[in-house]
Amino acid sequence: MARRPVSVLLGAGVAGHFAADALRQAGFDGQVLLIGAEPVRPYDRPSLSKGFLQGQKEADALFFRPEAFYRERDIELLLGRRAVALDVAARRVALDSGESVRYDKLLIATGAGPIRPRLPGFDLSGVHVLRSLADATALREDLAAAERVVIVGAGFIGCEVAASARALGRAVTLVDLLTAPMGHVLGDELAAVYAELHRAHGVDLRMGRRVVELRGQGRVEEAVLDDGTRLVCDVVVVGVGVRPEAGLAADAGLAVDRGILVDEHGATSALDVYAAGDVAYWWHPTLGRRLMVEHFDHAGMQGAAVGRAMAGQPESYAPVPSFWTDQYDTTLQYYGYPIGWDQVVLRGEPSAFAVSAFYLVGGRVVAAAMLNRPKEHRAARRLVAARAAVEPAVLADPDTDLRALAKQLAGE
Ligand SMILES: Cc1cc2nc3c(=O)[nH]c(=O)nc-3n(C[C@H](O)[C@H](O)[C@H](O)COP(=O)(O)OP(=O)(O)OC[C@H]3O[C@@H](n4cnc5c(N)ncnc54)[C@H](O)[C@@H]3O)c2cc1C
Repeated sequence: MARRPVSVLLGAGVAGHFAADALRQAGFDGQVLLIGAEPVRPYDRPSLSKGFLQGQKEADALFFRPEAFYRERDIELLLGRRAVALDVAARRVALDSGESVRYDKLLIATGAGPIRPRLPGFDLSGVHVLRSLADATALREDLAAAERVVIVGAGFIGCEVAASARALGRAVTLVDLLTAPMGHVLGDELAAVYAELHRAHGVDLRMGRRVVELRGQGRVEEAVLDDGTRLVCDVVVVGVGVRPEAGLAADAGLAVDRGILVDEHGATSALDVYAAGDVAYWWHPTLGRRLMVEHFDHAGMQGAAVGRAMAGQPESYAPVPSFWTDQYDTTLQYYGYPIGWDQVVLRGEPSAFAVSAFYLVGGRVVAAAMLNRPKEHRAARRLVAARAAVEPAVLADPDTDLRALAKQLAGE
């Protein structure tokens, strides 16, 4: 009897889960092994900084699927095992359990890990990063007894944790060198709206400042800023970005530059080895450049596309990337390519925290972000997909029917 082909998926996160499901949906009837370092099956990571941290959702509610889902599809879960070495010539992956797994096709979907800055006092107890369910559980326990929280980094994770900690009634100080929260992605105009939003909810914003030291006797007691300010605290959350978990691939000789280089089908430089999600630095065929996207929708969609490619059904993966963030009673939906802009046009009511931002390059819409403006999502997405040329005044005009405009300019 012929040996069953083996597809090994490294990383039981978002991309790994959707790849496994897509392999089976595409009719792959070989062995599927989903291997993950975390001891739990794939779950909804975005909820960690939102509903889970606020105690509105428990861990059981986070899992994408029950165990039976994997059993019924003959997807073998090898959890609590970390891949420690990859040999592409022998087509083998070594695990920290001592096991060695042979593959015919391999997906690396190991995600990204939080950057742990060289900050004096970072190792004190009460100092947290947030990436995994274990991280979130530890932070939630600490927050329960905390009074004052300092958050280092006003990116998406830092801002969501700030909102959750405020919902729990904790005093929150948010510190970043940026001039306003998430300004590096959202631009000054929309970031200024978020600064007001956080202030309105009682967050003490310390923008343009850096935490230079954490101090305490065993447990963190204060954060020291670069201007000498000492912030008393009992919990610190450090959210200063992530780094792709690409070491395994680099050590195995795969082409890596920031993330693992992959083409539009998710194929790496090594035969029959693919990568997807936060770890992949992928070629966008219609943009004609590489993108590093560290967001949920992309990880799921690219994981699924690569799963189909591994099953022999390659397709060109070229979506308009998108993400969302939930803070307090707001939702922001973003579509587009995080590659810079030369003009930002706001539309709506910034003071009511209901505003859309359109990002233009050479008069063309390359990205759009809608804060509490759900009715504009579809039209904005079309404008971005078509890279539509629109007069800024027309975009900003509240009387402009965005749907009609998108129909006309996107040719639909
Ligand atoms: C707290 C939080 C909130 C977020 N909120 C949002 C949001 O609101 N909107 C949004 O768009 N995105 C959000 N994201 C980002 C989103 O969750 C990620 O982009 C997505 O999880 C990436 O999926 P992935 O499969 O590439 O990686 P992951 O989901 O991180 O999965 C990778 C898995 O691989 C495992 N692994 C790593 N190395 C190895 C190894 N050597 N061997 C075996 N396993 C390994 C890891 O332990 C992990 O379980 C959030 C992320 C976090 C942490």
